[in-house]
Amino acid sequence: MRDKVEAVHVKCPMCDHTQIVYIPKEQIPRCPVHDVRMIIVELLDEGKSY
Ligand SMILES: [Zn+2]
Repeated sequence: MRDKVEAVHVKCPMCDHTQIVYIPKEQIPRCPVHDVRMIIVELLDEGKSY
């Protein structure tokens, strides 16, 4: 069982506000402008090993 955090690129579905979050350590954020849950657009697995 791995305890790896994954960087994901999230985006507001209503605007181009994007953010990088680390799951499962962090929750998917809400857009600060629209207060809607942002969607995952890309997984940014950089292949880091901790
Ligand atoms: Zn937005």
